[in-house]
Order: sequence, then C-alpha cells, then structure tokens
Amino acid sequence: MKNVDYIIVGDGYAAFFFAHQLILNGKSLVLFSAEKKGASQVSAGIVNPLVLKKFTTFWLAAEQIEFLTKTVAEIETYTGENYLIHEKIHRIFHDENEMKLWSMKTETEELKPFLNPTFETLDTIKNPFGTGEVNHSARLDVNGFFKDISTYLEEHEMLVREKFDYNKVTDSTYENITFKNIVFCEGMGVRDNPFFTDIQVIANKGHHATVRLYEKMNHQYTLKKKHFLFPLNDDLHYYGGTYDPNERENEIDEFKTEELKDGLAAFYPHDFEVVEVNYGFRPTVKDRRPIIGNLPDHQNYYIYNGLGARGILNGCYFSKELYEHIENGKPLMPEVDLKRFNK
Ligand SMILES: Cc1cc2nc3c(=O)[nH]c(=O)nc-3n(C[C@H](O)[C@H](O)[C@H](O)COP(=O)(O)OP(=O)(O)OC[C@H]3O[C@@H](n4cnc5c(N)ncnc54)[C@H](O)[C@@H]3O)c2cc1C
Repeated sequence: MKNVDYIIVGDGYAAFFFAHQLILNGKSLVLFSAEKKGASQVSAGIVNPLVLKKFTTFWLAAEQIEFLTKTVAEIETYTGENYLIHEKIHRIFHDENEMKLWSMKTETEELKPFLNPTFETLDTIKNPFGTGEVNHSARLDVNGFFKDISTYLEEHEMLVREKFDYNKVTDSTYENITFKNIVFCEGMGVRDNPFFTDIQVIANKGHHATVRLYEKMNHQYTLKKKHFLFPLNDDLHYYGGTYDPNERENEIDEFKTEELKDGLAAFYPHDFEVVEVNYGFRPTVKDRRPIIGNLPDHQNYYIYNGLGARGILNGCYFSKELYEHIENGKPLMPEVDLKRFNK
C-alpha cells in the first residue's frame, strides 16, 4: 500500500498549480494524467491584466499577477527554470476611437497601472493607429512548464500516466493507494465524474494555429488584434485562440482555421503558412468565477474547476485558496465556492 496526503486527478493548470502548493508544503501526492492534451497544453500562455476588447480589468487581476510571479519563482527552485517570458502585449488599435478610449482610461486609478500611455507604431505589420502596451503583461512558456513539472513529478514518483478510473475509488482508497484527500481537476473531463455530477461548467472551444511567417518582425512583443500572435521559435509563431462557445465536436473546424487565417492577414500583410491547428475546451462558468468545493457526504473529495479563459492566473491564485481551505480551514471566498449554486 502507498499512503499519500493527496490524489490529484488531471494534468492542466488547476492540477499542476495545486500540486505545486503541496510540494511547497511538504505534502505527499500522486497525480493522474490521462496523457491527452487538455485546454492547458494548447493554451497560449498569455498573462494579461486586461480585457482587451473594452480596456477594462477584472477581479483580483493585480493580486493574481503578483502571486503568479511569486509562484513561478518557487517552482524555479526545483525545476531550475522560470517560465515567465516578459514579452509585453501590444494591442493593435482598430481605429482612432480606440486610441482615444485607451488614453482616457490611462487617467483612471484602476487602469493606470496597466495601460502604457505612450503609443508605438510597429514595422512589418499593419497598424495605422499604432499600438498600446499592456504593463505587467507576460506569457508563460507552456511547453516548458508542463514538460519540466511532469518530469519532476515522475522523478519523485508522484506521476501516474494513466486515466483515473472512477470505478476503482472507494472512500479513501484507489487500488493500492490510500489518500487523505482527493482533488478533481479534470477541466471539461468533469462530465465523466460520477461524484460531482452537477458542476456547471460550459465548454468554450478554442482553436489556435502554429504559423510560419515569411517576413521577420523586428520586435519581441505579443501582438493582439482579433487574437494573439507571438513568437515560438525560429520563424514559427502561435496565433489564437478563437472562442467557439457553441461547438462540441472533437475535431478541427475548418471554418475556424479560416477565421484564424483572416484574423492574421488583417494585420500581417505578408506570406504565411499554417503549419498546424489545434483546439481545446475551456471550462467556463456563467459568472466567470472558478468552482471550488467538496462533497457533503465525502468531505475529502474536492473539485477545482471553472478556470475559464484565464487558466493561468485563476489556476495559480486559487490553488493556494484551496490549499488553505483544506489544510487550515480558511473559508472559501463566496465568489468561488461551489455552494453558491445551491442558492
Ligand atoms: C486555444 C486556447 C487558448 C487559451 N489561451 C489561454 C491563455 O493564453 N492564458 C490563459 O490563462 N488561459 C488560456 N486558455 C484557457 C486555459 O487553457 C484554461 O482555463 C485551462 O486550461 C483550464 O485548466 P484545467 O486544468 O481546469 O483543465 P484542462 O487544461 O482541460 O486539464 C484537465 C486535464 O485533466 C485530464 N483528465 C480529465 N479526466 C481525467 C481522468 N479521469 N484521469 C486523468 N486525467 C484526466 C484531461 O485529459 C486534461 O488534460 C486557453 C484555452 C484555449 C482552448
């Protein structure tokens, strides 16, 4: 028999950031990975304190960015890498009104820290109204993050590379493992979870493309017009992701590939080639807040889901809230508590 403090089911941002809290606090764990690319592995990795449609910010944005910076530094102590890439987002303005709106918002207390008041005009791309830089924006090296933490978990015998079979769990035992707590972090896979049957997550499918650009850009920014564009390596770039709330098919939608091509062509007036298209399903919630809680009849069975379009910031920040709740009895914030759905 193997005895652990925690079983974690899933291998996305929710699972890995929670695993980090356990490692940090010296708790033993086993994490189950179905070895399929979930939303996290196909995500862009953008860390952004703004809603770039309306130039507004969101609940806990500054606190979340600060906490993420602290967390990646902690992870660096055992993987040897810091996965935050400090390439700022440049929002390409559609027209003069957007420039004016941005300028106006730089005057407000709430947005001043995030909106750089000085505009830039970039070469190689179409940006007749210039671009605005988002302060405190960055991106995560998604591949490095998942690859290195998986390796760390594997080397320390904390990773099980198989799908968690719900039929094999009884109270606090799973096959030859006994656990104190189990945390389910399956993203949209929660639909197969027989314990949390009424979790109100809605799939929002997103496609992205890996593109080869034939005209090199002389800056290292993350560009945003309809979608995000940023460099991967050599001449390859990431472009995406789309928002496809009504799509459920487990396949690439050709219309979305076209949407990506059109979106890129709208500001990159040179030849490019789509090398690969991928998609994932964001676990979103109507009130745009994560879902954290446990079962009334199995109090050591927890859910950590609903990270929405901000898997990195939400996943990182609320992993600590969940940890403190389980280990130290800290009450959950009502905004993220599973119980809010019982009202
Ligand atoms: C195209 C796209 C771009 C995005 N870009 C960004 C971005 O730039 N920044 C950002 O912050 N967010 C982004 N997101 C959103 C982000 O990806 C999600 O919020 C996040 O991935 C959700 O994480 P999760 O861990 O809850 O779920 P997931 O990432 O879906 O992870 C759940 C994992 O659990 C596994 N699993 C399920 N059931 C089992 C089982 N029984 N046994 C074992 N494993 C199981 C699944 O295989 C899956 O890999 C993007 C999403 C998409 C689709």
